[in-house]
Amino acid sequence: MATGDGGAGAAGGRAALRWSLPQRRRLVTKVPGPRSEALQARRAAAVAPGVSSSSPVFVAEASGAVVLDVDGNSLIDLGSGIAVVGVGHASPQVVDRAAGQLRRFTHTCFMVTPYEAYVAVCEQLNELSPGTFEKRSALFNSGAEAVENAVKIARRATGRQAVVVLEHAYHGRTNLTMALTSKNMPYKDGFGPFAPEVYRVPTSYPFRDPEGMTGRQAAERATSLVESEVGASRVACVVVEPIQGEGGFVVPAKGFLPALADWCRSSGALLVADEIQTGLARTGDWFACEDEEVVPDLLTTAKALAGGLPLAAVTGRAEVMDRVHPGGLGGTYGGNPVACEAALGALSTMRELDLPAAARRIGALTGEWLRKMQASNAAVGDVRGRGAMWAIELVRPGTKEPDAGAARAVASACLAEGVVVLTCGSFGNVVRLLPPLVIDEALLAEGLDVLSSAVAAAG
Ligand SMILES: *Cc1c(COP(=O)(O)O)cnc(C)c1O
Repeated sequence: MATGDGGAGAAGGRAALRWSLPQRRRLVTKVPGPRSEALQARRAAAVAPGVSSSSPVFVAEASGAVVLDVDGNSLIDLGSGIAVVGVGHASPQVVDRAAGQLRRFTHTCFMVTPYEAYVAVCEQLNELSPGTFEKRSALFNSGAEAVENAVKIARRATGRQAVVVLEHAYHGRTNLTMALTSKNMPYKDGFGPFAPEVYRVPTSYPFRDPEGMTGRQAAERATSLVESEVGASRVACVVVEPIQGEGGFVVPAKGFLPALADWCRSSGALLVADEIQTGLARTGDWFACEDEEVVPDLLTTAKALAGGLPLAAVTGRAEVMDRVHPGGLGGTYGGNPVACEAALGALSTMRELDLPAAARRIGALTGEWLRKMQASNAAVGDVRGRGAMWAIELVRPGTKEPDAGAARAVASACLAEGVVVLTCGSFGNVVRLLPPLVIDEALLAEGLDVLSSAVAAAG
C-alpha cells in the first residue's frame, strides 16, 4: 500500500493498478503554497489572462486519483482534469503505450501515410458505441473539433442546414461551437458574430421546470418550437448532451431523450449525442444514452478517450458517415499516433477493470453522501447525477435562487483542505464531482467528508 497500490478501490481491486504516488491526502504547507504563489506571479506576467485556472495550485506530478503540487501537498482529485483521466492520472497502460509509440514515430499524418493504431481506435469506438448497425469513425484533436465535424457530416448527409441545440448546452469554444453553447459569460461575450442556422430550445431541467413536467412534455415543448420557428424539414441535426456537463450536470427527466430521438427519426433529422463529458464509462454505462436505450446517429467523444492525451472522435452510422466525400474531413494532427496508442491503453484499462461498474459503485457512494448533505443543509437545492458524475446545486435557502458565491466558497474551501472539486452551471452555482474511476473508495469518502464540511460552512 505504501507505493500507492490501487488496492480494493472502486475498480474492485482486479488487476490492481500500481501508482507512483501514495493514494492519500497530505498537506505540508497552506494551499496554495509559496512555490505555487511564485509560479502564479510568473504566470500573470506571461500567460494571457483569458486562459484562467480554477485552482491557483501548480502541479509537479499526478498519479491515480492524487495530484502532487509543487509545494509537496498531495491533493485528492475529484475533477479528473474535467473528466479526462477516468483511468487515473498517468495510468500505466496509457503511459506505456504512448511512450512506446513516442520512440517509434511521433507523426506522419494519417492523411499522408496511415498507421494501425488510428484504425484500431475507430474499430473499438464502432464496437462500443450504441447501435448494432455498421459504423465508421473519424478522429480529431479536441471535443470542439469533433462537434464541428459532426455538424459538417450531418449537413452533408441530410442536405439541410439548421442545427438545433438546447438551453444550458456546452459544446466548445470555436466559432461554430460557441454558437452551439448556451452560456454567454465567459464563453461568448464579445466574441461574435456567431455561426448562423443554430436554434436553441428549452431542455428538460427537472429542478427548474414546472412541477411534474415529464420528459415527454419537455421534449414536446422543444420540438413544437422547432416545428413552428425552424421547420422540421430544415433540421440537419439535434445536438444533445445526454447529461449536460458545463451547463450544470442537468439530468433530463426520463423520456426526454427517447422522445427527441423519435422526433428526429420522424423528421429526417439526425440525432447527435455529444458524449464528450459523459462517454466512456463515466456514467456507469459505456455511453450515457444507453441508460434509456437511445441510439444516436452520430456520437462525439473526446475527454476520457485517450487518458489525458488530446484525441476526439465522431462515430456514426456508416450510411451517414459514408456520405462525405474523400478529403472532406481531417486535419494535420487528427488521430496523432501517440494519442491513438494512449487511447488503446485507456480503452483496454476501462475494459479490464470494468470501469463502467466502478462508476456505478462510485455513484452509489457519492449519491448517498450528497443526499445527506442536502437533508442537513437548505443551501443544497438539488442533488443529481449518474455513475461517477454527480453535483449539488446551491441556492439561497428556502428558494431556487442560484448562489454562485456559495459554489465558489465550497470549491475554495475544499482546495484549502486538499481536495480538488469543480464548479459549473449556467448560473455558476453547481459543485460537480468527476473523480477518476480508479479512485480508492476510502479516498473518495475522505474527499466527500471534506466537501461536507465545506458545504456546511457555506450554508
Ligand atoms: C469539454 C466539452 C466539449 C469541448 O471539448 P474541448 O476538448 O474542450 O474542445 C464539448 N462538449 C462537451 C459536452 C464537453 O464537455
